[in-house]
Amino acid sequence: MAKRDYYDVLGVPKGAEDAAIKKAYRKLAIKYHPDKNPDNKEAEEKFKEAAEAYEVLSNKDKRARYDRFGHAGMAQGGGGGGFSGGMTMEDIFSQFGDIFGDSGSPFESFFRTSSRGGGQRARGQRGSNLRIKVRLTLEEIANGVTKKIKVKKQVGCQTCGGNGAKDRNSISQCTTCRGQGYVRQVRSTFLGQMQTTTACPTCNGSGQMITANCTNCKGEGKVYAEELIEIDIPGGVAEGMQLSMSGKGNAGAKGGPAGDLLINIEEIPHDFLQRDNMNLVYELYLNFADAAIGKSAEVPTIDGRVKIKIPAGTQAGKIFRLKGKGLPSVQSYGKGDQLIHVNIWTPKKLNDEERALMEKLKDMPNFQPQPGKSEKTFFEKMKDYFN
Ligand SMILES: [Zn+2]
Ligand SMILES: [Zn+2]
Repeated sequence: MAKRDYYDVLGVPKGAEDAAIKKAYRKLAIKYHPDKNPDNKEAEEKFKEAAEAYEVLSNKDKRARYDRFGHAGMAQGGGGGGFSGGMTMEDIFSQFGDIFGDSGSPFESFFRTSSRGGGQRARGQRGSNLRIKVRLTLEEIANGVTKKIKVKKQVGCQTCGGNGAKDRNSISQCTTCRGQGYVRQVRSTFLGQMQTTTACPTCNGSGQMITANCTNCKGEGKVYAEELIEIDIPGGVAEGMQLSMSGKGNAGAKGGPAGDLLINIEEIPHDFLQRDNMNLVYELYLNFADAAIGKSAEVPTIDGRVKIKIPAGTQAGKIFRLKGKGLPSVQSYGKGDQLIHVNIWTPKKLNDEERALMEKLKDMPNFQPQPGKSEKTFFEKMKDYFN
């Protein structure tokens, strides 16, 4: 079945602001929420469809890609730029912190009980996300890299296993929920009778009461520690991109799931090469005699030096292209080029001998500028440069 346009799904115009997108999604999420539409397949599909549209349109990079390529641009998974084609219910609920605020969604109850398959005991609060910066060289960006980074973060307490209790005798069943972790309520609403389950207010959903705290973590169930994390960074990432590793953030309270590790990419400027999206640009300076006579020149590229032939009569502004010597796309299709931009070096000062030679050359017939039809204009060169 063909996918609907994400803007149509959310019912917003193409240029809609972030706030409008968020608002539209919030409305749909509430309307089609499974708690409100039990055993309604159609509502579930709509709920998932809206979540997927929001997932894309709420993310600057994904939205830009979608605007350019449509659904086709979303199909490629791969790497950190990856896109979740089919979102699971759990993905969707974890997104809710974002739209309903960190205090938790109005559907927290659902997330904690039914989405985990009923029988499982509800768990403690999710850990917070952890943000780190990773600085990469252009070489690392070109090839992709695995970074091992020491991260200081909250991890589950080893002493108590994360439950925060001093020992087994200091854990007892919660009397409010009889160990269930949640309480059921039947409410009358304009939709009719709705049964909701909410996390037990006494034990915060753990189903347990703790009478004496673990001395190592003081009952928190987590402690600060350093962890060495291996981060696979795909080739082609760029300054400002954010990768995420789910479950690698701070540990949750009382055995709750860990938050995510968010990795912000920074680029270390290269000595010779400048980046222009997937292309790399090298500024080559030739002296005007070499440009007139022609020569073989060596230029640096991202993977070593390369010889190029400068033909006789090369003009300033000429651009040579080394195909495929640029950066990969983060979606892993195609590679950019290296562009070599020719500059002619004009001597800034002359000694007597040089001046005498120049005086001799300057009036010679071939030294007079004779731009013909074959010379490119400034605008044509700019076009060459950017295409
Ligand atoms: Zn502990
Ligand atoms: Zn309880």
